[in-house]
Amino acid sequence: MKLLTVGTVAFDDIETPFGRAEKAIGGAATYISLAASYFAEQVRIVSVVGDDFPESVLQDLTSRNIDLAGLEVKKGEKSFFWAGRYHNDMNSRDTLETQLNVLADFNPILPEAYKSSDFLMLGNLTPDIQLSVIEQMVGKPKLIALDTMNFWMDIAMESLKKVLKRIDMLIINDEEARQLAGTYSLVTAAAMIHEMGPKFVVIKKGEHGALLFEGENIFYAPALPLAEVFDPTGAGDTFAGGLMGYLAMTGEVSFENLKRAIIYGSAMASFCVEKFSTERLLNLSKVDIDARIDKFVKLVNFDSIPV
Ligand code: AMP
Repeated sequence: MKLLTVGTVAFDDIETPFGRAEKAIGGAATYISLAASYFAEQVRIVSVVGDDFPESVLQDLTSRNIDLAGLEVKKGEKSFFWAGRYHNDMNSRDTLETQLNVLADFNPILPEAYKSSDFLMLGNLTPDIQLSVIEQMVGKPKLIALDTMNFWMDIAMESLKKVLKRIDMLIINDEEARQLAGTYSLVTAAAMIHEMGPKFVVIKKGEHGALLFEGENIFYAPALPLAEVFDPTGAGDTFAGGLMGYLAMTGEVSFENLKRAIIYGSAMASFCVEKFSTERLLNLSKVDIDARIDKFVKLVNFDSIPV
C-alpha cells in the first residue's frame, strides 16, 4: 500500500562527542521515507527545498522508489537548516540553530494521486502544515500518524491541539509527552494524550526503546544495545518510517500488528545510528533487515517457568 509522508528535507550541522558534520543531509521526511521504502509499495513525499539542495540526493531517493512529485524546489531560496549538538550520553541533544528558510511560507499542495494514499505520516513540521495536508486528503487514510517536538509546542500549541483531534497515532519522545500532558508519569501522559484525540500513542525513549499505548494495552519495544553509536540524528524519524512502512506493507491496523511495526521501526533506527546522516539507510538488504529483527526477537524472548 501507499504511504504519504510530509516533513522537512533538510541540511543538518551535527556535533557528537565523536565528530562533526556540516551540511549533512537530514530532515524528517528524508529519514521517514528512506526507512519506509524498504517495506511500503510506494512512499510519497510532500515537502519543499531550496535550489541549494543536491540533485544527487534526490536521485538517491528516487532510486529507492520514493515519489518526489510533491517535493517543491524553490528557486533562489535556501533549504531548511538545523544544527544540533549531542551530549556525552548521545541520548540528549541541544538545538543550536533552526533556520526555516523555504519552510517559512510553505503551503503544501498535494498532487492529485497523493490524496488517496492509504497511510499518512505527518513528520515533524508546523502543525498548520500538518493540518492542511489532512484537509486535502480525499477519504480517510487507514491510519494517520503524527510526530512533533517541543519547538512546536512552545510556539504553536493551539494549532497542535487542533491537529491532534484529527489523527490516529501520536509518536513523540518521553520529554515531549511530559510537556504536552503536563505530567511526569508516562502512563498518565499517554492517557491524557488519548483524550486529546489519538487512539494510539507511541512514546520514544531514545536508547531505552519505545512504549506503545492503546488505552489499557501497553507494549514495550527495546532499542537494540549497540557497541557503537555514531550519530543518533534521524533515529526517531527512521523509527517512525520503519513503523509506518511496515503498516503500509501489511495493511492491518491493530494493536497486535502495531507491536510488530514498532519492532520494525526500532530495527531501522538501530541501522540509522550506526553511521552519520542517512548513509546507513541507503543500501540495506532484506538479509540485513531480517537478521536485525532476529536480534530483537532473541533480545526479548524468554520462557516463563511457573515458580
Ligand atoms: P530526529 O533525530 O529523529 O528527531 O530527527 C532529526 C531531524 O529532524 C534532522 O534531520 C532535522 O533536519 C529535523 N528537524 C530538526 N528540527 C526540526 C523542526 N523544528 N521541524 C522539523 N524538522 C526538524
